[in-house]
Amino acid sequence: MNKILIIEDEQAIAELEKDYLEMNGFEITVCNDGLSGEETAISGDFDLIILDLMLPEVDGYEVCRHVREVKDIPIIMVSAKKEDLDKIYGLGMGADDYMTKPFSPSELVARVKAHMSRYSRLVAAKKSSGNEIMDIKGLRIDKTSRRVFVGGVEKQFTTKEFDLLVFLASNPDKVFTKQELFKEIWGMESVGDITTVTVHIKKIREKLEDDSSTPRYIETIWGVGYRFKVS
Ligand code: CA
Repeated sequence: MNKILIIEDEQAIAELEKDYLEMNGFEITVCNDGLSGEETAISGDFDLIILDLMLPEVDGYEVCRHVREVKDIPIIMVSAKKEDLDKIYGLGMGADDYMTKPFSPSELVARVKAHMSRYSRLVAAKKSSGNEIMDIKGLRIDKTSRRVFVGGVEKQFTTKEFDLLVFLASNPDKVFTKQELFKEIWGMESVGDITTVTVHIKKIREKLEDDSSTPRYIETIWGVGYRFKVS
């Protein structure tokens, strides 16, 4: 796990990044514009991407968005303007990290190593424990580390939201009543209102769905309850 793609139009910066990363044992490919960068990122087999924001042909925003649709490898975005990085962060484009130019090469190497090791743990967990990872229509649930990724982007779940999602996803296409879900997730002894279930389903949908009115994952069966759709 050591292949890095640098997408950067300023030759001097690309060379500097390349030199330092090569010294640290990484194998580097450089693309100097957004179009070739995007194509190379998608067709190639890289473990991490360093992506400049301002690029000829296709800018870094677009490259990030398109790559993220098909790959979950770490993406570190770099820009000369801090405001631009704040904007990217606000857009939630799925980049894993942001650096403002100029940065020290050692800082870049440190961040690359950190993201690489986090990602390799993720991949290792997926490989070593087949049924601990659920991959369903762009949704990944890591039961071991209790993390949820939608289109490669991590979403934060509370304990009960996570348990409810896993229970439903583990029983695809089966309809459960709110009472059944309440009993399953909150336990028989729990004293509570079953509208808790409704509230939790709503919260889960906000994190999973682009459009909550036509859910892709958790469907409401009117007058009965909910089911996790796989078809
Ligand atoms: Ca640039």
